[in-house]
Amino acid sequence: MTNFDAKSLANVGVRNLSPYQAGKPIEELERELGLTDIVKLASNENPLGLSKQVTAALQDTLAGLARYPDANGFYLKSKLAEKLGVNINQITLGNGSNDVLELLARTFVNEHHEVLFSQHAFVVYPLVTQAIGAKGIAVPAKNYGHDLDAMAAAITDKTRMIFIANPNNPTGTFLTTAELESFLAKVPAQVLVVLDEAYYEYVPAAERAPSVEWVQRYPNLIVSRTFSKAYGLAGLRAGYAVTHADIADLMNRVRQPFNMNSLSLKAAEVVLDDADYLAQSIAVNQAGMAQLIEFCEQVNLAYIPSYGNFLTIEVGADAADIYQQLLHKGVIVRPVAGYELPNHLRVSIGLEHENQVFIDALKSMLL
Ligand SMILES: *Cc1c(COP(=O)(O)O)cnc(C)c1O
Repeated sequence: MTNFDAKSLANVGVRNLSPYQAGKPIEELERELGLTDIVKLASNENPLGLSKQVTAALQDTLAGLARYPDANGFYLKSKLAEKLGVNINQITLGNGSNDVLELLARTFVNEHHEVLFSQHAFVVYPLVTQAIGAKGIAVPAKNYGHDLDAMAAAITDKTRMIFIANPNNPTGTFLTTAELESFLAKVPAQVLVVLDEAYYEYVPAAERAPSVEWVQRYPNLIVSRTFSKAYGLAGLRAGYAVTHADIADLMNRVRQPFNMNSLSLKAAEVVLDDADYLAQSIAVNQAGMAQLIEFCEQVNLAYIPSYGNFLTIEVGADAADIYQQLLHKGVIVRPVAGYELPNHLRVSIGLEHENQVFIDALKSMLL
Protein backbone atom coordinates (compact mmCIF):
# COMPACT_ATOMS: atom_id res chain seq x y z
CA MET A 1 0.00 0.00 0.00
CA THR A 2 2.64 2.51 -1.01
CA ASN A 3 0.25 4.85 -2.78
CA PHE A 4 -2.20 5.25 0.03
CA ASP A 5 -3.00 8.95 0.50
CA ALA A 6 -5.86 9.42 2.94
CA LYS A 7 -5.90 13.17 2.36
CA SER A 8 -6.70 12.79 -1.33
CA LEU A 9 -9.67 10.65 -0.35
CA ALA A 10 -11.10 13.21 2.06
CA ASN A 11 -13.74 15.70 1.06
CA VAL A 12 -12.17 18.83 -0.40
CA GLY A 13 -13.28 21.04 2.48
CA VAL A 14 -11.89 18.64 5.05
CA ARG A 15 -8.40 18.44 3.54
CA ASN A 16 -7.41 21.93 4.58
CA LEU A 17 -9.36 22.05 7.80
CA SER A 18 -7.52 22.86 11.04
CA PRO A 19 -8.98 21.14 14.09
CA TYR A 20 -10.72 23.20 16.74
CA GLN A 21 -8.21 24.30 19.37
CA ALA A 22 -9.69 23.91 22.81
CA GLY A 23 -8.41 25.54 25.97
CA LYS A 24 -5.54 23.59 27.48
CA PRO A 25 -6.89 20.99 29.94
CA ILE A 26 -5.65 21.22 33.54
CA GLU A 27 -4.43 17.60 33.47
CA GLU A 28 -2.32 18.28 30.39
CA LEU A 29 -0.48 21.16 32.04
CA GLU A 30 0.00 19.07 35.16
CA ARG A 31 1.55 16.35 33.03
CA GLU A 32 3.75 18.70 31.04
CA LEU A 33 5.10 20.90 33.80
CA GLY A 34 4.52 18.83 36.92
CA LEU A 35 2.47 21.67 38.41
CA THR A 36 -0.41 21.42 40.83
CA ASP A 37 -3.00 24.02 41.91
CA ILE A 38 -3.55 25.10 38.35
CA VAL A 39 -6.02 27.88 37.62
CA LYS A 40 -7.83 27.41 34.32
CA LEU A 41 -9.43 30.52 32.89
CA ALA A 42 -9.37 29.34 29.30
CA SER A 43 -12.70 27.90 28.21
CA ASN A 44 -15.39 30.19 29.62
CA GLU A 45 -16.52 27.47 31.98
CA ASN A 46 -18.62 28.18 35.03
CA PRO A 47 -16.24 28.56 38.01
CA LEU A 48 -18.96 27.54 40.49
CA GLY A 49 -18.81 23.91 39.45
CA LEU A 50 -21.94 21.81 39.06
CA SER A 51 -25.23 22.89 40.63
CA LYS A 52 -25.82 20.81 43.79
CA GLN A 53 -29.28 19.91 42.53
CA VAL A 54 -27.75 18.57 39.33
CA THR A 55 -25.20 16.50 41.25
CA ALA A 56 -28.01 14.88 43.25
CA ALA A 57 -30.15 14.22 40.18
CA LEU A 58 -27.24 12.63 38.33
CA GLN A 59 -26.77 10.13 41.17
CA ASP A 60 -30.35 9.02 40.65
CA THR A 61 -29.85 8.75 36.89
CA LEU A 62 -26.87 6.39 37.07
CA ALA A 63 -28.99 3.29 37.62
CA GLY A 64 -30.72 3.77 34.26
CA LEU A 65 -27.58 4.17 32.16
CA ALA A 66 -27.67 0.69 30.66
CA ARG A 67 -30.65 1.87 28.64
CA TYR A 68 -30.62 4.24 25.68
CA PRO A 69 -31.51 7.86 26.37
CA ASP A 70 -34.87 9.29 25.33
CA ALA A 71 -34.08 9.96 21.66
CA ASN A 72 -36.54 12.84 21.59
CA GLY A 73 -35.58 14.44 24.89
CA PHE A 74 -39.23 14.87 25.74
CA TYR A 75 -38.90 16.17 29.30
CA LEU A 76 -36.14 18.64 28.56
CA LYS A 77 -37.85 19.93 25.43
CA SER A 78 -41.15 20.29 27.28
CA LYS A 79 -39.49 22.29 30.01
CA LEU A 80 -37.68 24.51 27.52
CA ALA A 81 -40.84 25.04 25.48
CA GLU A 82 -42.75 26.11 28.56
CA LYS A 83 -40.00 28.39 29.78
CA LEU A 84 -39.47 30.04 26.39
CA GLY A 85 -43.13 30.24 25.40
CA VAL A 86 -42.73 28.18 22.22
CA ASN A 87 -44.09 24.89 20.97
CA ILE A 88 -42.15 21.73 21.70
CA ASN A 89 -41.79 21.11 17.96
CA GLN A 90 -39.72 24.28 17.64
CA ILE A 91 -36.87 22.92 19.75
CA THR A 92 -33.89 20.87 18.62
CA LEU A 93 -31.49 19.53 21.22
CA GLY A 94 -27.76 19.27 20.65
CA ASN A 95 -24.70 17.65 22.17
CA GLY A 96 -23.65 21.15 23.16
CA SER A 97 -24.71 24.01 20.93
CA ASN A 98 -21.72 23.27 18.70
CA ASP A 99 -23.65 20.20 17.65
CA VAL A 100 -26.62 22.40 16.77
CA LEU A 101 -24.43 24.73 14.70
CA GLU A 102 -22.97 21.81 12.77
CA LEU A 103 -26.39 20.27 12.32
CA LEU A 104 -27.66 23.50 10.82
CA ALA A 105 -24.83 23.68 8.34
CA ARG A 106 -25.25 20.03 7.34
CA THR A 107 -29.00 20.39 6.97
CA PHE A 108 -29.05 23.55 4.88
CA VAL A 109 -25.68 24.36 3.34
CA ASN A 110 -23.91 22.73 0.39
CA GLU A 111 -20.73 23.38 -1.57
CA HIS A 112 -22.43 25.91 -3.84
CA HIS A 113 -23.40 28.18 -0.97
CA GLU A 114 -21.77 31.06 0.83
CA VAL A 115 -21.89 31.43 4.59
CA LEU A 116 -21.29 34.76 6.29
CA PHE A 117 -19.78 35.42 9.69
CA SER A 118 -17.79 38.23 11.22
CA GLN A 119 -14.05 38.60 11.53
CA HIS A 120 -13.06 37.66 15.12
CA ALA A 121 -16.24 35.56 15.45
CA PHE A 122 -16.48 32.11 17.00
CA VAL A 123 -14.26 29.70 15.06
CA VAL A 124 -16.86 26.95 14.83
CA TYR A 125 -18.68 28.95 12.10
CA PRO A 126 -15.82 28.78 9.57
CA LEU A 127 -15.09 25.20 10.65
CA VAL A 128 -18.55 23.79 9.95
CA THR A 129 -18.75 25.80 6.73
CA GLN A 130 -15.44 24.56 5.41
CA ALA A 131 -16.12 20.95 6.37
CA ILE A 132 -19.08 20.97 3.99
CA GLY A 133 -17.06 22.58 1.22
CA ALA A 134 -19.12 25.77 1.25
CA LYS A 135 -17.50 29.17 0.93
CA GLY A 136 -17.09 31.00 4.22
CA ILE A 137 -16.88 34.77 4.10
CA ALA A 138 -15.49 36.63 7.08
CA VAL A 139 -16.85 40.17 7.01
CA PRO A 140 -14.41 42.71 8.53
CA ALA A 141 -15.32 43.63 12.09
CA LYS A 142 -16.14 47.07 13.45
CA ASN A 143 -14.64 47.85 16.86
CA TYR A 144 -13.95 44.12 17.26
CA GLY A 145 -17.66 43.34 16.84
CA HIS A 146 -20.06 42.45 14.04
CA ASP A 147 -20.52 45.14 11.38
CA LEU A 148 -24.10 44.33 10.51
CA ASP A 149 -24.33 46.87 7.69
CA ALA A 150 -21.31 45.30 6.03
CA MET A 151 -22.75 41.84 6.63
CA ALA A 152 -26.08 42.81 5.04
CA ALA A 153 -24.17 44.25 2.09
CA ALA A 154 -22.21 41.00 1.71
CA ILE A 155 -25.35 38.93 1.07
CA THR A 156 -25.45 37.52 -2.47
CA ASP A 157 -27.64 35.05 -4.36
CA LYS A 158 -25.38 32.31 -3.01
CA THR A 159 -25.66 33.24 0.66
CA ARG A 160 -27.52 30.50 2.52
CA MET A 161 -26.57 31.08 6.16
CA ILE A 162 -25.33 33.90 8.38
CA PHE A 163 -23.83 33.22 11.81
CA ILE A 164 -24.02 35.94 14.43
CA ALA A 165 -22.70 35.46 17.95
CA ASN A 166 -24.31 37.77 20.47
CA PRO A 167 -22.40 38.32 22.71
CA ASN A 168 -19.49 37.28 20.52
CA ASN A 169 -16.69 34.99 21.61
CA PRO A 170 -13.77 35.79 21.89
CA THR A 171 -14.40 39.54 21.87
CA GLY A 172 -17.41 39.84 24.19
CA THR A 173 -18.93 42.45 21.88
CA PHE A 174 -22.70 42.90 21.88
CA LEU A 175 -25.34 43.94 19.38
CA THR A 176 -28.37 45.84 20.63
CA THR A 177 -31.96 44.79 20.04
CA ALA A 178 -32.44 47.67 17.60
CA GLU A 179 -29.32 46.78 15.61
CA LEU A 180 -30.32 43.14 15.33
CA GLU A 181 -33.88 43.89 14.43
CA SER A 182 -33.01 46.27 11.63
CA PHE A 183 -30.58 43.66 10.30
CA LEU A 184 -33.20 40.89 10.36
CA ALA A 185 -35.60 43.10 8.46
CA LYS A 186 -33.03 43.40 5.65
CA VAL A 187 -32.18 39.71 5.27
CA PRO A 188 -34.05 37.88 2.47
CA ALA A 189 -36.28 35.04 3.70
CA GLN A 190 -34.23 32.37 1.93
CA VAL A 191 -31.14 33.26 3.96
CA LEU A 192 -31.00 31.62 7.39
CA VAL A 193 -29.74 33.73 10.27
CA VAL A 194 -28.24 31.77 13.16
CA LEU A 195 -28.19 33.91 16.28
CA ASP A 196 -25.81 32.18 18.68
CA GLU A 197 -26.69 33.30 22.19
CA ALA A 198 -24.28 31.12 24.16
CA TYR A 199 -23.77 33.95 26.68
CA TYR A 200 -27.39 35.14 26.74
CA GLU A 201 -27.85 34.70 30.50
CA TYR A 202 -24.95 37.04 31.28
CA VAL A 203 -26.53 39.92 29.38
CA PRO A 204 -28.43 42.29 31.70
CA ALA A 205 -32.14 41.43 31.41
CA ALA A 206 -33.06 44.88 30.11
CA GLU A 207 -30.63 44.56 27.19
CA ARG A 208 -31.51 41.04 26.04
CA ALA A 209 -33.10 40.86 22.62
CA PRO A 210 -36.54 39.17 22.42
CA SER A 211 -34.91 36.75 20.01
CA VAL A 212 -37.18 33.78 20.70
CA GLU A 213 -40.24 35.95 20.01
CA TRP A 214 -38.66 37.08 16.75
CA VAL A 215 -38.70 33.48 15.51
CA GLN A 216 -42.47 33.86 14.98
CA ARG A 217 -41.96 36.92 12.81
CA TYR A 218 -38.76 35.83 11.04
CA PRO A 219 -39.09 32.12 10.18
CA ASN A 220 -35.53 32.22 8.79
CA LEU A 221 -34.17 33.08 12.28
CA ILE A 222 -32.56 30.36 14.37
CA VAL A 223 -31.70 31.01 18.01
CA SER A 224 -29.10 28.75 19.58
CA ARG A 225 -28.27 28.56 23.27
CA THR A 226 -26.19 26.38 25.54
CA PHE A 227 -26.03 24.90 29.02
CA SER A 228 -22.22 25.08 28.96
CA LYS A 229 -21.73 28.57 30.32
CA ALA A 230 -24.07 30.16 32.88
CA TYR A 231 -25.72 26.80 33.61
CA GLY A 232 -22.38 25.12 34.28
CA LEU A 233 -22.78 21.91 32.26
CA ALA A 234 -19.86 22.21 29.81
CA GLY A 235 -18.62 18.68 30.46
CA LEU A 236 -22.04 17.13 29.92
CA ARG A 237 -22.71 18.69 26.47
CA ALA A 238 -26.14 20.24 26.24
CA GLY A 239 -27.43 22.91 23.91
CA TYR A 240 -30.50 23.67 21.82
CA ALA A 241 -31.97 25.64 18.96
CA VAL A 242 -35.30 27.44 18.83
CA THR A 243 -36.61 27.66 15.29
CA HIS A 244 -39.64 27.53 13.05
CA ALA A 245 -41.16 24.03 13.41
CA ASP A 246 -40.30 23.18 9.79
CA ILE A 247 -36.62 23.90 10.43
CA ALA A 248 -36.67 21.72 13.55
CA ASP A 249 -38.31 18.94 11.55
CA LEU A 250 -35.52 19.02 8.95
CA MET A 251 -32.75 19.15 11.56
CA ASN A 252 -34.36 16.22 13.30
CA ARG A 253 -33.89 14.11 10.18
CA VAL A 254 -30.13 14.72 10.16
CA ARG A 255 -29.56 14.64 13.91
CA GLN A 256 -27.98 11.61 15.56
CA PRO A 257 -30.86 9.97 17.45
CA PHE A 258 -29.08 9.99 20.81
CA ASN A 259 -27.11 13.20 20.49
CA MET A 260 -27.86 14.09 24.10
CA ASN A 261 -27.15 11.35 26.61
CA SER A 262 -29.25 10.45 29.65
CA LEU A 263 -27.04 12.37 32.07
CA SER A 264 -26.98 15.56 30.05
CA LEU A 265 -30.74 15.43 29.46
CA LYS A 266 -31.38 15.07 33.17
CA ALA A 267 -28.83 17.68 34.20
CA ALA A 268 -30.19 20.27 31.78
CA GLU A 269 -33.74 19.62 32.88
CA VAL A 270 -32.84 20.05 36.55
CA VAL A 271 -30.59 23.09 36.20
CA LEU A 272 -33.30 24.98 34.32
CA ASP A 273 -35.23 25.03 37.59
CA ASP A 274 -32.26 26.02 39.73
CA ALA A 275 -32.80 29.77 39.73
CA ASP A 276 -30.42 30.27 42.66
CA TYR A 277 -27.55 28.66 40.79
CA LEU A 278 -28.14 30.85 37.74
CA ALA A 279 -28.36 33.98 39.88
CA GLN A 280 -25.12 33.05 41.62
CA SER A 281 -23.41 32.41 38.26
CA ILE A 282 -24.35 35.86 37.12
CA ALA A 283 -23.34 37.52 40.39
CA VAL A 284 -19.94 35.80 40.49
CA ASN A 285 -19.40 36.82 36.89
CA GLN A 286 -20.23 40.47 37.55
CA ALA A 287 -17.91 40.61 40.54
CA GLY A 288 -15.08 38.88 38.69
CA MET A 289 -15.51 41.08 35.65
CA ALA A 290 -15.23 44.18 37.88
CA GLN A 291 -12.11 42.71 39.49
CA LEU A 292 -10.38 42.13 36.15
CA ILE A 293 -11.40 45.50 34.75
CA GLU A 294 -10.13 47.28 37.83
CA PHE A 295 -6.80 45.52 37.40
CA CYS A 296 -6.58 46.41 33.69
CA GLU A 297 -7.27 50.05 34.42
CA GLN A 298 -4.78 50.10 37.26
CA VAL A 299 -1.97 48.84 35.03
CA ASN A 300 -3.18 50.58 31.87
CA LEU A 301 -3.99 47.50 29.83
CA ALA A 302 -6.60 47.95 27.11
CA TYR A 303 -9.43 45.43 27.01
CA ILE A 304 -12.51 44.84 24.89
CA PRO A 305 -15.63 45.61 26.96
CA SER A 306 -17.39 42.27 27.36
CA TYR A 307 -20.95 41.05 27.81
CA GLY A 308 -19.77 37.49 28.32
CA ASN A 309 -18.06 35.55 31.10
CA PHE A 310 -14.59 36.46 29.86
CA LEU A 311 -12.47 39.50 29.16
CA THR A 312 -10.16 39.85 26.18
CA ILE A 313 -7.15 41.90 27.18
CA GLU A 314 -4.59 43.55 24.93
CA VAL A 315 -1.28 42.50 26.42
CA GLY A 316 0.84 43.50 23.40
CA ALA A 317 3.01 41.94 20.74
CA ASP A 318 4.43 39.31 23.07
CA ALA A 319 1.02 37.83 23.91
CA ALA A 320 2.18 34.34 22.88
CA ASP A 321 5.13 34.63 25.23
CA ILE A 322 2.99 35.95 28.07
CA TYR A 323 0.62 33.01 27.54
CA GLN A 324 3.57 30.61 27.93
CA GLN A 325 4.88 32.40 31.00
CA LEU A 326 1.43 32.24 32.57
CA LEU A 327 1.36 28.49 31.93
CA HIS A 328 4.61 28.15 33.86
CA LYS A 329 2.96 29.97 36.74
CA GLY A 330 0.07 27.51 36.60
CA VAL A 331 -2.43 29.85 34.94
CA ILE A 332 -4.15 28.77 31.72
CA VAL A 333 -5.74 31.51 29.62
CA ARG A 334 -6.60 31.48 25.93
CA PRO A 335 -4.41 32.84 23.14
CA VAL A 336 -6.56 34.32 20.36
CA ALA A 337 -4.02 34.83 17.55
CA GLY A 338 -6.12 32.39 15.50
CA TYR A 339 -8.91 34.96 15.68
CA GLU A 340 -6.69 37.65 14.18
CA LEU A 341 -6.11 39.06 17.64
CA PRO A 342 -2.38 38.32 18.09
CA ASN A 343 -1.90 40.95 20.79
CA HIS A 344 -4.76 39.81 23.01
CA LEU A 345 -5.38 37.06 25.52
CA ARG A 346 -8.86 35.95 26.51
CA VAL A 347 -9.35 35.38 30.22
CA SER A 348 -12.43 33.60 31.52
CA ILE A 349 -13.95 35.02 34.69
CA GLY A 350 -13.17 32.73 37.60
CA LEU A 351 -13.79 32.80 41.32
CA GLU A 352 -12.27 35.78 43.12
CA HIS A 353 -9.14 33.94 44.23
CA GLU A 354 -8.62 32.44 40.77
CA ASN A 355 -8.84 35.87 39.16
CA GLN A 356 -6.35 37.11 41.73
CA VAL A 357 -3.87 34.35 40.87
CA PHE A 358 -4.07 35.48 37.23
CA ILE A 359 -3.76 39.15 38.17
CA ASP A 360 -0.74 38.55 40.39
CA ALA A 361 0.95 36.38 37.76
CA LEU A 362 0.45 38.91 34.98
CA LYS A 363 1.43 41.82 37.23
CA SER A 364 4.73 40.14 38.07
CA MET A 365 5.52 39.94 34.36
CA LEU A 366 4.57 43.49 33.53
CA LEU A 367 6.57 45.12 36.30
C1 LIG B 1 -19.08 28.35 24.24
C2 LIG B 1 -19.77 28.73 22.98
C3 LIG B 1 -20.73 27.93 22.41
C4 LIG B 1 -21.26 26.71 23.10
O1 LIG B 1 -20.52 25.62 23.06
P1 LIG B 1 -21.18 24.25 23.54
O2 LIG B 1 -20.99 23.35 22.38
O3 LIG B 1 -22.62 24.48 23.84
O4 LIG B 1 -20.40 23.88 24.74
C5 LIG B 1 -21.39 28.34 21.29
N1 LIG B 1 -21.11 29.52 20.74
C6 LIG B 1 -20.21 30.34 21.25
C7 LIG B 1 -20.00 31.66 20.63
C8 LIG B 1 -19.49 29.96 22.38
O5 LIG B 1 -18.57 30.77 22.87
